[in-house]
Amino acid sequence: MRILLAEDDETLQRGLLAVLGKAGHQTVIASTGSHADTLLSSEKFDLLILDLGLPLMDGIEVLERLRRRRGGLPVLILSARDRMLDRVRGLDSGADDYMTKPFELSEFEARVRALLRRGQGVNFLLGRLQWSWDLREASVDGEVLELSRHEVALLEAMIKSPGRVVAKNAMAIALGDDEGVAAGDNMVEVYIHRLRRKLVHATVEIRTVRGLGYRLVSTEREG
Ligand code: CA
Repeated sequence: MRILLAEDDETLQRGLLAVLGKAGHQTVIASTGSHADTLLSSEKFDLLILDLGLPLMDGIEVLERLRRRRGGLPVLILSARDRMLDRVRGLDSGADDYMTKPFELSEFEARVRALLRRGQGVNFLLGRLQWSWDLREASVDGEVLELSRHEVALLEAMIKSPGRVVAKNAMAIALGDDEGVAAGDNMVEVYIHRLRRKLVHATVEIRTVRGLGYRLVSTEREG
């Protein structure tokens, strides 16, 4: 896969480059926002890893310009500040993934893998639960689950980082309106409850991580 890494921190560049190289990806580096923008408008990539704090043109503008060109490219946002991420979430339809610095390289690897699979339209599979990125549709043993728009938003948020904790406030944002105004915690709980009932045959479980959020895990034993 061909990846554009737009990041100006040289230490982080080196670390991420090593991880991506080990996974067999070809990575092109842009150290400024304007260089990233030029590359995005002239070359083809499978994934953009985008730092928001870039010189010459900030990451949010790079993203907005990409969207205006109707770029369907998956984008993994890296940001040092949560508040910047809130702005991105507000202007985007939830097609991307976000990581706040500092982060674990293993988590980074998992997110990249998931985003590349999505870019290929490949289904996600956990236990007997199947997910189609193209259709945003969940099915169990080939039978499509009837999920509401809100249930889909929550399930999708968990599928983006399987096995890992998704913060309750990230879910509240996923349930929120187009202006980025988050839903209340009780609304998250209501939809998680409904989702659990619908996933009863999927051999996956939504675990509550007290004080943090939720995790989607398989209940099938290995081997
Ligand atoms: Ca930076």
